[in-house]
Amino acid sequence: MTVQPIRLFGDPVLRTAADDVVDFDKELRKLVKDLIETMQDEGGAGLAAPQLGVGLRVFSFDVDDVVGHIVNPVLSFPDEEEQDGPEGCLSIPGIYIDTKRRQNVVANGFNEFGDPVQLVGTGLMSRCVQHETDHLDGVLFLDRLDAAGRKDAMKQIRAAEWYDAAKPPTVKENPHAGGIFGAGLFSSGR
Ligand SMILES: [Zn+2]
Repeated sequence: MTVQPIRLFGDPVLRTAADDVVDFDKELRKLVKDLIETMQDEGGAGLAAPQLGVGLRVFSFDVDDVVGHIVNPVLSFPDEEEQDGPEGCLSIPGIYIDTKRRQNVVANGFNEFGDPVQLVGTGLMSRCVQHETDHLDGVLFLDRLDAAGRKDAMKQIRAAEWYDAAKPPTVKENPHAGGIFGAGLFSSGR
């Protein structure tokens, strides 16, 4: 069984920046397997290691039947084009809010064996890559919303059955002003 429990909004691990992967070893490959299997079990479009409580810079994705993972991703944006559409997060289940993202992204990183890889994403894949990379910085898609969107989101979250009022979550204001790095994984399945 490699499906792991997903940490929910309010868990401090989701607010902690992850460390670069240094050892491309058996442990990393187990983590990648857990990420992919848990993501697919939940019907998500992406899952970042901190969502499984692991503070390493790696995430998995499953967008339009393109399934994979990337380690130590570094994002760049080839143009200024933006997109706006519903985004959600497996750590904030059931909440979908329109979130602005860059339309196109290039992620440079490594595969689980330490070989360099490049992931070029547009549309939903670009949204996913920005959302998951934000997770590695302790940033959630809620942080990307304007004041009205954030208010709407928090209202929905407080009403959600999974929400634990004893562990009040924090929402950051403008984590990266200008939105160089996008956050937020939309999740296709839930
Ligand atoms: Zn997420």
